[in-house]
Amino acid sequence: MIRRIINKVFGRKPRVASKGVHILPLAAHGIRRDQLDDCALKVCETLSASGFKGYVVGGAVRDLLVGKTPKDFDVATDATPEEVRRLFRRSRIIGRRFQIVHVMCGRETIEVTTFRSNGQKEVEDEDEQSAGGKSPAEHKRQTDEHGRLLSDNVFGSMEDDAARRDFTINALYYDPAREEVHDYFGGVADCKARMLRMIGDPETRFREDPVRMLRAARFAAKLDFHIDEATRKPVATLAPLLANIPRARIFDEALKLLLSGHALRGVHQLRAEGLHHGMLPLLDTILDDPTGERFINAALKSTDERIQSDRPSSPAFLFATLLWPQVVKRWHALEAAGERPQPALFVAMDEVLDAQRSQLAIPRRYDGMMKEIWGLQPRFEQRGGQRPYRLLEHPRFRAAYDFLLLRAESGEVDRELGDWWTRFQDADEDERAGMLMADSGPKPRRRRKRRKPGETGGEAQPA
Ligand code: ATP
Ligand code: MG
Repeated sequence: MIRRIINKVFGRKPRVASKGVHILPLAAHGIRRDQLDDCALKVCETLSASGFKGYVVGGAVRDLLVGKTPKDFDVATDATPEEVRRLFRRSRIIGRRFQIVHVMCGRETIEVTTFRSNGQKEVEDEDEQSAGGKSPAEHKRQTDEHGRLLSDNVFGSMEDDAARRDFTINALYYDPAREEVHDYFGGVADCKARMLRMIGDPETRFREDPVRMLRAARFAAKLDFHIDEATRKPVATLAPLLANIPRARIFDEALKLLLSGHALRGVHQLRAEGLHHGMLPLLDTILDDPTGERFINAALKSTDERIQSDRPSSPAFLFATLLWPQVVKRWHALEAAGERPQPALFVAMDEVLDAQRSQLAIPRRYDGMMKEIWGLQPRFEQRGGQRPYRLLEHPRFRAAYDFLLLRAESGEVDRELGDWWTRFQDADEDERAGMLMADSGPKPRRRRKRRKPGETGGEAQPA
């Protein structure tokens, strides 16, 4: 409090850097204030005008340093969530245990987080513990028997906040007023050297939160960074700790990796580190089969291209591709056992979806769209009579067609089939009529097929 008043009264002058921090001027990092988005800038300015600290932190600073456009901007402050909320009319506190504040400007949202400590060191100085007001006894580290941190919701100083972050490149604080970067662990140098390095003792930090191993693979892939050897070493032994993480959190992390724009590299990085058992165990079966591997590589490459060119990509489509090699395997096995193709496919789909629930926990809301994409695949083979016209009008045609192209690319079906559908879509009426083939498909059913609940719906695969 006293420090805050001093800061307010003396403005920027008494910049007492805490232990170990390097304050780098513009020339050393190159990030200009005008590279921030307006909302983040406004949040920092408002905080600072009220005597609080306000820095852009984490991914945005890192991305600007390596010349990437940040996905979003996070702000760290010594103001409590309640103090932040009072400063911004359009803001709300999110979360109960780990409270953060969402500040809205226009359609944008900035996440504002109060400096936190992971409880590693007791707070010696009342002033340092700027926002907390908790007694040192409450700052004891709580971990489970594997070293997993059970509580990370203790306010702390800016230095504590830097130390609780995962990698050196994620612990950089940008002060827009001075265009300076506060660097506690050499993150700017690591960014320049394209090196991903854990803060503190890697084994302890991975034990505290095993998801950091997945984050390491994701950042290495996204930034094309090398993982520092000391950081990498414990991963092989600690990978099984991912089994103790709630499936929903693993799923969120899988989604971040798959939608990062660098999924192809990320997935192979994951497998190289032996981390896929805990995140995408199905990779083993897929990548062991050359057609499966070609199919998944093509799917991830096309997802990456969509994301890099700012086209949306649907998680349901992505998971439909990841599970497809298993569906195909089961489908063909059932067919070989005498089941008719279409019913065999539907049985295979249900079996694969049921089996993945214990592994990956893909939310059920994606089932409808995945099943539609899969279920439409045999209909692409039917190129006679009215069938192609009806398929073209199906609401899920576009996603199913994109999926067919991936199958054609991997050699699972003839390339000619994909090309035929590409031409058929663009052809005029006469050309289409000329393209139709002798109707070799199954006879139309007499009875209308009743949809099972949940077979429709889901989100659209954007064109
Ligand atoms: P992205 O571009 O993927 O958003 P990011 O670095 O912003 O990257 P977030 O998951 O948004 O990643 O987290 C924001 C910041 O919070 C990180 O930069 C890091 O400093 C910190 N952080 C997030 N998750 C962890 C974790 N599991 N352990 C330690 N620090 C974390
Ligand atoms: Mg982020």
